[in-house]
Amino acid sequence: MAVRPTPELAADADARFADIADPVEQALVVLRWAGETFGADFAITSSMADGLLAHLASRAIPGVNVVFLDTGYHFAETIGTRDWITGVLPITLVNATPPQTVAEQDLSFGPRLFERDPDLCCELRKVKPLAQALAGFAAWGSGVRRDESPTRAGTRLVDWDATRGMVKVNPMAAWTQDDVDAYVAEHQVPVNPLFELGYGSIGCEPCTRPVAPGRTRAPAAGPVGARPSAASTPDGGPRPTPRVTGPWDGAAPARHHGWHVPSSTPLPDQIAAALPELPEWSGDAGGIRRSVQLPTFRDAVAAIVAIADVAEEMDHHPDVDLRWRTLHLSVVTHSAGGVTELDLQLARRIDSLLPH
Ligand code: SF4
Repeated sequence: MAVRPTPELAADADARFADIADPVEQALVVLRWAGETFGADFAITSSMADGLLAHLASRAIPGVNVVFLDTGYHFAETIGTRDWITGVLPITLVNATPPQTVAEQDLSFGPRLFERDPDLCCELRKVKPLAQALAGFAAWGSGVRRDESPTRAGTRLVDWDATRGMVKVNPMAAWTQDDVDAYVAEHQVPVNPLFELGYGSIGCEPCTRPVAPGRTRAPAAGPVGARPSAASTPDGGPRPTPRVTGPWDGAAPARHHGWHVPSSTPLPDQIAAALPELPEWSGDAGGIRRSVQLPTFRDAVAAIVAIADVAEEMDHHPDVDLRWRTLHLSVVTHSAGGVTELDLQLARRIDSLLPH
């Protein structure tokens, strides 16, 4: 290992790079520092939603390791994008796979585990394989941006990942959507063609659906295959919620199509910082809960119906338990292993329907 990763090393680097005004230059400087400091012990992650971070990283560190979590459930388009990016950029693909193939998992746990126990499915096919893949590195990077959500507003360029005991770099932390669009257009960055088909972000095929309603920004006109104007994700049931986020932290930035689908689970302290905005809710980064008593049983049922409308609209669903006239609600993105920005949005919408 070239250099031992420490919190002090991360804090020092973060302070040194914070004042670089040009976002592209800043990202390249951060990535160059990571490459020079950690050498082959540095990797970025990518969900293969696009090749933006891989493009930047390969400019700064030719041959850079790019970890892709190959769950066995990806769309053919995603695998094609992976191969496309690997073919055109000077990167070293690290294709992280679960210990069991989908067929082997079906034999062990029964078919369509993602329907019956998505938490276990994600644990087996995402959480553990990613942890295993990153365990061999001293530092890693993702495409998380501060403008993606309030919980990411404090994202540092260089941070300490205490959970993994690694340095974590976020070279695009200060980027805006316009920066993303400009870079993609200028460099003709490969983009997953699923975005052209209405998908807001890209995850496992059984758990990802197109996002139609409520686009906040139309895709830019441009050649097919070039990146649409919106930014990005990582990712990614019946629980037929769109399991489009993965447990990793931002292989690519989150797209602004429809409901914001976060690219990762915010860090526990980021969730803790967001919870005061939801005083009716308790819990932590592992899940949030709210109980509310309605005047009558009929009112409680009506509240559930109203919540159901919002849940269907958002394509994201809370767990609901009704005891006479008291509703117990629980919100978490099981596939991400914790609370995401989408959960916070759902909680806010539920609050707008219920008495305080
Ligand atoms: S997102 Fe769906 S298919 Fe993919 S690992 Fe999780 S539950 Fe399984």
